[in-house]
Amino acid sequence: MRRVLILGGTAEARALAAELADVPSVHVVSSLAGRVTNPRLPVGEVRSGGFGGPDGLATWLAAERIDAVVDATHPFAAQMTASAAEASARTGVPLLVLRRPGWPQGPADTWQRVDSLEAAATRLAEAATARLAIAKPVEPTEGTTESAGPVRVFLTTGRRSLPVFTGLAGVWLLARSVDPPEPPVPPHVHVLLDRGPYTVEGELALIREHRLDVLVTKDSGGRLTAAKLVAARELGLPVIMVDRPPLPTGVRLVETVNAAALWAQG
Ligand code: NAP
Repeated sequence: MRRVLILGGTAEARALAAELADVPSVHVVSSLAGRVTNPRLPVGEVRSGGFGGPDGLATWLAAERIDAVVDATHPFAAQMTASAAEASARTGVPLLVLRRPGWPQGPADTWQRVDSLEAAATRLAEAATARLAIAKPVEPTEGTTESAGPVRVFLTTGRRSLPVFTGLAGVWLLARSVDPPEPPVPPHVHVLLDRGPYTVEGELALIREHRLDVLVTKDSGGRLTAAKLVAARELGLPVIMVDRPPLPTGVRLVETVNAAALWAQG
């Protein structure tokens, strides 16, 4: 029996576990970080919680007699991927990274690509400053200006990224996440608890209802959360797109569940 560890927390990881469940020569253990209150569970054996860095993972792989690891974590789970690469190099247990492709930018999209959440926050701060600068003078003699109102941001980068954005002056946030962010949540942040998949109609309605000016998101890829980008395109809403962190050098990469399932069977 070939023992395969799937590092999960994604739809692809669940699909891979389901596909391998039908293969009699393979036993799968799926691993979740254990952060989400009510996670969607894959079929088969599931373990939960961190391993304790690369050392802990290497020890766990040996103790559980794991023959192969598929890292099917989210493209932004960079720490887990780095840990898996290091543990694999140390133990000799082969590693495959399964990553869905990023979202393609079309000609009608107005995206600004940035390489970090902090860079996205800087772009928002610039937008807020520019908005204040074009505010109309009301009483030029007294030097007062009409309030331009905050830049209204649709933020879908995850609850743990919220502190990067909450200190920005002139910015109001609609922050959508699966679980609530750590309190206290400042008054200029409206939290929307929801979990995909989302529809284009729903995203259009949300953008209109909250009069949103800009979408800030990570290049997660995949169909489940792509509707916001279609809605942004339809409404001409600018998007600040945070690029994926790079993969560790030398890791083997596939983009489809089928390819990962074939590899996992040896
Ligand atoms: P991360 O920053 O790369 O990982 C932080 C630590 O959490 C890891 O070092 C590891 O702890 C533990 N961990 C992460 N994924 C794990 C897994 N599948 N099984 C066991 N331990 C895991 O990861 P993250 O960005 O917080 O993501 C956590 C989980 O949520 C992942 O499973 C990921 O697939 C899923 N997810 C993430 C995002 C996102 O935007 N980042 C979105 C959707 C789903 P130790 O060092 O102690 O081993």
